[in-house]
Amino acid sequence: MNSLHRIVSGMRPTGYLHLGHYHGVLKNWVKLQETHRCFFFVADLHALTTHYQESHTIANYMESMLVDWLSVGIDPKKSVVFIQSAVPEHAELHALLSMITPLSWLERVPTYKDYIRDLKGKEGATYGFLGYPLLQSADVLIYKAAGVPVGEDQLPHLEVARELARRFNFLFGLNPEFLKHVQGLISHMEPVTAKRYERYRKAYLEKGDGQARQDGKDLVMGLSSLTEGDKECLLGYCEGTGKTILPEPEPILNPAGNLLGIDGRKMSKSYHNTIGLREEPRVVTQKIRTMPTDPARARRENPGNPEKCPVWPLHRVFSSDETQKWVMKGCTTAGIGCLECKQPVIDHMLKEIEPIRERAKEWEAKPNLVHRIVEEGNEVARAEAQKTLKEVKQAMGLFSHF
Ligand code: SF4
Repeated sequence: MNSLHRIVSGMRPTGYLHLGHYHGVLKNWVKLQETHRCFFFVADLHALTTHYQESHTIANYMESMLVDWLSVGIDPKKSVVFIQSAVPEHAELHALLSMITPLSWLERVPTYKDYIRDLKGKEGATYGFLGYPLLQSADVLIYKAAGVPVGEDQLPHLEVARELARRFNFLFGLNPEFLKHVQGLISHMEPVTAKRYERYRKAYLEKGDGQARQDGKDLVMGLSSLTEGDKECLLGYCEGTGKTILPEPEPILNPAGNLLGIDGRKMSKSYHNTIGLREEPRVVTQKIRTMPTDPARARRENPGNPEKCPVWPLHRVFSSDETQKWVMKGCTTAGIGCLECKQPVIDHMLKEIEPIRERAKEWEAKPNLVHRIVEEGNEVARAEAQKTLKEVKQAMGLFSHF
C-alpha cells in the first residue's frame, strides 16, 4: 500500500470516548493519516443498529466525538472527516449489495450469533443489526478502500466485505460492454503478445495454472501503452472475474496491546471500567487509587504478584522498563505499597489526558469551525462516493445519471 491508497474507518457515536478508544484506535489513525489518504467517519447509522431507542443521544455523542478526534490530532487537512448519514450513497450501496448477499453470510458473523444468543428470545434482533456487516461493507467499498484498520474481532466483518466485492465483480464485471472493450484492447496488441495473453488466460481458466495467471499479469503490467484502467480490465478478463468495480479491502490489524479497564477487563462503557478521554484529573486519580489489586496483598506487608493485579497491565502500557522493574520487585517483596505503585500510572495518565483536555476546550470554543470541517469533509466524501455508486449502477444496468 502507498500514500495513494485509501483507508476508511468509522466509530459509532454511542457514548463518550475513553482511553481505550485512544490507545486501540485513534493513535493508530493519527499515524495512518501521515502515510495514507484517510476517510474517517462518525458512524451514526451504525449507532441506530443497537441504539435506535436512544437516538436522541446520538447528536450529542457525535459532537463530542468530533471534538475528541480533532483534539487527539486527526488533521482535517490530511484526512477526510465526515458523517456517515450525510453521505446517503452509503445507504444506497447497502441496499444494492443486499440484493446479492446470501442471508447465511450475515447469519454466520460471530457478533450476530453472540447477540442472538444473549437475547435469549427477547425482542431486539432487527434487520438493521443483521445487516450491520453489510452496511460496513458499503462504508468501505463505496470509497474503494485499499485498507481498513480492524481489531481481530472485526476480521469476520471485513471478510464479508471482501466476499461481497468478489461476488459483485463476478456478477456485474463481466457484461457485454466490458467484453467488447477487452476484445478491442486485445486486437490492438502485437499478434504475438495477444496469442501469449490468450494462452495464459486459457491455461489459468481451464487448468487453474497459477504460473500462467502470474505470467498473464506480468505481461499486462508490462504493456506501457495501456492506461491503468485498461490494464485492470485485461487482468480481470484473464482471471475470469471481469472488471474490478469494487476492489477487495485488506485488513490493517490494529496494534496489539489495547488498554484494559480499571477492573482488568477490556475497557468498555458497558463494563463501567473506563477512564474518559477528557476525564477530570481528580476523577482519574480516584478511579486508579480505588482499583482492586492482587487479593494476596490484603495487608501492606503481604507480598503480591503483579501478574494477578489489574494495575500491572496499565504499567505495561504507561510505565518505563525501569518503573516496571521497580513494581515487580516492590510488589513481590512487599517493598512498596499499592498506592505507591499506582502513582506512576496516575501521573502518566494525567500527562496523556491533559493536552487532550486543553485542545478539546479550544475546539469546543469554536463550534462553527468544527461544523465547517465536517461539512467540507461531507462534500469530499460524497463526491467520491457518487463516483463509485455511478459505476456500480451502470454495471448493474440501473439508472445512473447524476
Ligand atoms: S503493588 Fe502494584 S502490582 Fe502489586 S498488587 Fe499492589 S498495585 Fe498491584
